[in-house]
Amino acid sequence: MTSERLLAVRAGKIRTLDPERPEVDSLAIRAGRILGLGSAEEIHSLVGGSGEWLDLRPATVVPGLTDSHIHLIEWALGRTVPDLSRSGAMDQVLASVRDQAESVPRETWLEFKGWDPALRPEAGLADLDAASQGRAVALVAHDLHSGWLNTEAMRRLGILENRSDPPGGAVERDADGRPTGLLKERALDWWYEGRPRPSDAERRAALLQAQAALHRLGVTAVHSVEAPESFRLLERLELGGELELRVLHHFPQRFIDTLIECGIASGFGSERLRVGGIKYFSDGALGSRTAWMLEPYEDSEGCGILRLEPQELAADVERALAAGLSATVHAIGDAAVRMVLDTLESAGSGGLAIPHRIEHLQCVQRGDLARAARSGIVASMQPSHLLTDIRLAEERWGPERCRGTMALRSLLRAGTVLAFGSDAPVEEPDPRECFYAALARRDRSGYPSDGWFPDERLTGLEVLRGYTEGPAVAAGDADRRGRLSPGHHADFCAWDIDPAAAAAEEIPSGKVLATVVGGEVVYRADAD
Ligand SMILES: [Zn+2]
Repeated sequence: MTSERLLAVRAGKIRTLDPERPEVDSLAIRAGRILGLGSAEEIHSLVGGSGEWLDLRPATVVPGLTDSHIHLIEWALGRTVPDLSRSGAMDQVLASVRDQAESVPRETWLEFKGWDPALRPEAGLADLDAASQGRAVALVAHDLHSGWLNTEAMRRLGILENRSDPPGGAVERDADGRPTGLLKERALDWWYEGRPRPSDAERRAALLQAQAALHRLGVTAVHSVEAPESFRLLERLELGGELELRVLHHFPQRFIDTLIECGIASGFGSERLRVGGIKYFSDGALGSRTAWMLEPYEDSEGCGILRLEPQELAADVERALAAGLSATVHAIGDAAVRMVLDTLESAGSGGLAIPHRIEHLQCVQRGDLARAARSGIVASMQPSHLLTDIRLAEERWGPERCRGTMALRSLLRAGTVLAFGSDAPVEEPDPRECFYAALARRDRSGYPSDGWFPDERLTGLEVLRGYTEGPAVAAGDADRRGRLSPGHHADFCAWDIDPAAAAAEEIPSGKVLATVVGGEVVYRADAD
């Protein structure tokens, strides 16, 4: 992977983020690390005649981007599921089902995503059965709250034998009491539990494709939250020399005892795959009114759901801390954010290799805005949620609380370390969406035209820092990543725009031309 050979790079502009030398046009790499930066003449004299040159002019080079919140394998596997979201009519849906069904063996369980349930009146179960040709088929709705199964799928899952509805779920039935195939909420879990799990080979193939897709977006590192089976897959990839992303891996709360027993602490691992923190859920989300709020929702009576009692979180964090494990806590509502800040502040972070962090930090009371910075807690945020959530936040939280929602500028002014990500597969892991959202603060429909709380906008350079320096601090490796400085890993990406200076409107059409990890070119647009 990394070699001793010298490589020199020349670009239109190299944004190093190193205050000593913020802008150069060339750099030299040895053994995967940056040897020096400067003008082309300086780098020439550094590498002499022995260096190979990579000419990226006129591109702008910036440090490699880190997606600080992704569910890597889940996203990777989801990419391989055929997508119906562009099918505008039921006959197009059925045509896709027929095409797929013809290409796979009869015993296959065939899943589709992105289905629009509003199209269903255009066809009956018999039409779906005909298109499926004996395969078990599920069309999963784009909101994941329902799915339409064919008769073969219902037969395999025992639904035809009057399987009774699960708590929190329902099977739709016709006037004669026969299931129509539509499964709602928890009943849809029967499909996920009943179909075969992807094999190791399928997971590995999906992951390699996902890795290449991230490189095409300039992403060189991720912070992923998943169970140990994903960690094992990444580990095997690394041992085989195939892991070309740098991964910080957080583990769900239920694995805390396993990690403590094995003596695995945050920061343990290699330069490619390292252990992050323990991931907790303190509350739910805005969309389902389960984010835990100090005051009731504007459009309903409740304050949301607290998923973890403060005493339980405190006791667990204390145990984790004693074992060298940091806390990575999901908190979206203002009450959840306050509770998590209280807990992490009183726990402290003595002896940890990587800092505690709060995931999402979506709605924060003014009085709490400076607390994360004071305690060295990283704010891991996903500005691209602004593209979908602005009207929802206004309806549910009202104007006063919206002022502290996605309060990027206020948090930054207080000195908070921001680490940006996508939460893929919830959103696409495309950093351009985050840049656009943080710059424009408008949703996909362009609302509001002058920006939502426009004083909370960031500059392109600040967003870039949230994708580079911030994640490096969050991963405890700011001494060797996040900037292009001598001795740092040679991880960077080259763009046809300058992402740190481009206007919001230019961002969506900007393209990554090349991506380099540890001095190795992992993506070249002209080789595509
Ligand atoms: Zn997530």
